[in-house]
Amino acid sequence: MKFEDEPVPGYPLPILPGHVSPGRFERVLRAGVFAVTTELAPPDSADPQDVYARARVLDGYVDAINATDGSGANCHMSSLAVCALLTRVGYAPVMQISCRDRNRIAIQGDILGGAAMGVCNMLCLTGDGVQAGDHPQAKPVFDLDSVSLLEIGRMLRDEHRFQSGRKISFSPRVLFGAGENPMVPPLEHRALRLAKKVAAGAQFIQTQYVYDLQRLRSFMRGVEDLGLLDRLFLLVGVGPIKSARGAEWMRRQVPGVHIPDTVVERLAGAQDQAREGRNICVELIQEIRAIRGVHGVHVMAYRQEEAVAEIITRSGVLEGRTPWHPARDQNSADRKAS
Ligand SMILES: Cc1cc2nc3c(=O)[nH]c(=O)nc-3n(C[C@H](O)[C@H](O)[C@H](O)COP(=O)(O)OP(=O)(O)OC[C@H]3O[C@@H](n4cnc5c(N)ncnc54)[C@H](O)[C@@H]3O)c2cc1C
Repeated sequence: MKFEDEPVPGYPLPILPGHVSPGRFERVLRAGVFAVTTELAPPDSADPQDVYARARVLDGYVDAINATDGSGANCHMSSLAVCALLTRVGYAPVMQISCRDRNRIAIQGDILGGAAMGVCNMLCLTGDGVQAGDHPQAKPVFDLDSVSLLEIGRMLRDEHRFQSGRKISFSPRVLFGAGENPMVPPLEHRALRLAKKVAAGAQFIQTQYVYDLQRLRSFMRGVEDLGLLDRLFLLVGVGPIKSARGAEWMRRQVPGVHIPDTVVERLAGAQDQAREGRNICVELIQEIRAIRGVHGVHVMAYRQEEAVAEIITRSGVLEGRTPWHPARDQNSADRKAS
């Protein structure tokens, strides 16, 4: 069965003029649609069904699914494997690459391997330090950081060579992105750090959780002042908090998370704190969507994947459109092909 000419979401598509990947996520971004992505927490399991079960609840709600790479420096199924499984059934994954556990030899191999398996989007991250996770005795690698990783990714794709200079015969056709955290000090340097990532090859940015709109607006002014608004696709990270206690835990334990007191107090005062956490998230999405230069939201609901659909629906952010839906779209492709 050949899908090259079929405009079927989730399947490899022809690369459009001005695009770098055959992926649907890039098409959504370049079409100017307000994009919605989410992250899938890779399971502590070797069963592919555990990946599919987590992905299925997102069908029809998101444009791409990030697979985290040992986030918080905890051990889980690899991002590469999760993405390979997701591409098999037509999802559009974003493969997250952290520099903590692998050197440049392994990472370049993973970029080629991921692209060979149909991964069209990769997020380049420095990665959380080992001390944050469940194996603090592990040896941290950090041969690269997010910026040098982006440069290498672009070299593989655009110059068709490894960092060593050795030629590769078929380039990874990948949209490269990076993370950013507009919420934590040094705040005045965050937009500059972003500029470095864009100069190194980041085409899209997904941010850490944002619960403080004032800080986000000031970061966006910095991004605009640097003339970056038209040079990247920026998706703002949001997520529901289950309770005031959960918020306190996140502030203490999750590196880089800033939650203002007003948010914790609002949660503490609510009868149903989990519902209030989702309400806050819906309101944030609606406010964020109106900020100039924001191209989408990245909804991170750690081990609460089922909450993502409700939040996206209630926020109205999709404006009646239905992002790709593998089961539905695969059936329609099969019908067209028969
Ligand atoms: C959307 C998203 C997804 C993530 N997923 C993962 C994951 O799957 N696995 C994982 O391990 N981690 C993940 N992280 C966490 C992230 O890797 C860590 O927070 C890491 O400390 C920062 O990585 P980076 O690539 O964003 O930062 P970088 O910008 O590359 O920062 C790297 C280091 O430089 C420092 N730095 C940053 N800005 C400046 C500056 N202006 N001046 C001087 N120093 C600076 C930082 O404090 C950090 O120590 C994710 C983060 C985000 C936003």
